[in-house]
Amino acid sequence: MSDARSYNFEAQYIAGTWRAGTGETTATDLNPYTGETLLTLKSASIADVDAAYRAAEAAQVAWAETSPAARADLFRRVADILRARREEIVEWLIKEAGSARLKAQIEWQAVLNGVIEAASIPYRMHGQILPIDTPDTESRVYRRPIGVVGVISPWNFPFHLSHRSIAPALATGNAVVVKPAEDTPVTGGLLIARIYEEAGLPAGLLNVVTGDSRTIGDSFCTHDAPRFLSFTGSTGVGRRIGRLAIEAPVIKRTALELGGNNPLVVLADADLEQAAQAAAFGRFLHQGQICMSTNRIIVDASVYDEFLTLFVDYAGRLQHGDPADANTLVGPALNAKQLKANLEHLADAKSRLRQVLGGDPVGSVVPPHIFADVDNDDPLAQTEMFAPIAFVIKARDDAHALELANGTEAGLSSAVFSQDEARALRFARGIDAGMTHINDMTVADVPFNPFGGEKNSGLGRFGGSWIVDELTTTHWITVRRGKISYIH
Ligand code: NAD
Repeated sequence: MSDARSYNFEAQYIAGTWRAGTGETTATDLNPYTGETLLTLKSASIADVDAAYRAAEAAQVAWAETSPAARADLFRRVADILRARREEIVEWLIKEAGSARLKAQIEWQAVLNGVIEAASIPYRMHGQILPIDTPDTESRVYRRPIGVVGVISPWNFPFHLSHRSIAPALATGNAVVVKPAEDTPVTGGLLIARIYEEAGLPAGLLNVVTGDSRTIGDSFCTHDAPRFLSFTGSTGVGRRIGRLAIEAPVIKRTALELGGNNPLVVLADADLEQAAQAAAFGRFLHQGQICMSTNRIIVDASVYDEFLTLFVDYAGRLQHGDPADANTLVGPALNAKQLKANLEHLADAKSRLRQVLGGDPVGSVVPPHIFADVDNDDPLAQTEMFAPIAFVIKARDDAHALELANGTEAGLSSAVFSQDEARALRFARGIDAGMTHINDMTVADVPFNPFGGEKNSGLGRFGGSWIVDELTTTHWITVRRGKISYIH
């Protein structure tokens, strides 16, 4: 394989071979901005899912026995390929996922960072020797790979969100089967498989099945091979997958990384310029289609008008349109369904709320919209808005702002702005979320840090030692050295 542009992606990747899916349907992969057909793909069948899981199961045993150095070295080769193929990967993210060039570059960087971290993971799989009261006995805890991992990923950051499960799973000695979102079969799976194949990953350790989740979704989740399901997507589907994992013939562990409704809070002593820029970037990057996007902007009444003026000004400067244009920040909605939902939310908001920024949609591109004086309990403010639409909410004081920030079923990311670090920290520690950024935007994902949510935003954490714990299991082994008499 010399050039990723000539890769044939019109196949499933199972057991180290590229083969046509045996499902009954053919899927069309579209460019969300131009509407162009990128490729057509025969869908995977339930038999293909089974073949992929069986291949993973067979390959995993020998992989778990490889040296840490051999596994670490794989990721160094992957990093080299990522660097060499940067532009090709960025182009795919633009044309398949509707990513603005800057977002595509951020995503490429996130994957590279994840690969670099993964190279250290094989050396971080520590066991333990524990104290034990029984005489002449040693108590050991061995850490071992969990086995086969099933990965289901969404379309918004497909390359990164598939890869952030794949890399640590392989690094800890597991094998993987990935089912990318229907809209992003290449960037969510097939492109990753090509890169790992080129890096020399043995056959069967990484498999990709693409197709309609209504046909293969249940069997993907209930198959007896995977011991762990790593799901990133909506809260509704995540609940279903959690249930399937428990009810499957062999119970599975799950990581559920679900939707957000992330507050950005501006306290009375905030640097308003910083806060307004962070709110604009964190709300409108990737058209608001990020789980960590700023969904609600909660502003102290004493600085509300001044903040709103700055926020409207910064948001109004963001260029929208062709995602391939280097100056564009706001590109197209991912697909017709997503666009329809965006336009319905917009019509609802326009009919009831005070609009302070807007513009006419062009094709699948909706320009940034801002609505002010929104009630935190408004159904729109309570909805995860995967759209370039912002809601600004007024708070009486810090206590009220905290109550509003926590007034959601979600608990993924959050942000608070204040020039008094102790005040901001006190506020941050009161937020019921997995992640809070002080004086920074809500969108942040760094591989050595714990990424994950509370409440309906899910279960589990990526990053650092947390993902090693998720993807491995412990085995308690005791060794008795002396003799004892059990029966007198
Ligand atoms: P989605 O839940 O519709 O789909 C996610 C994945 O699940 C896709 O691969 C889809 O094909 C698959 N799927 C759907 N139904 C299934 C079923 N019955 N069985 C098995 N698989 C099934 O979500 P989406 O629209 O692709 O992504 C957007 C959502 O993802 C948002 O809610 C967003 O907040 C969330 N998200 C969360 C994180 C996070 O880390 N917490 C990151 C990105 C996106």
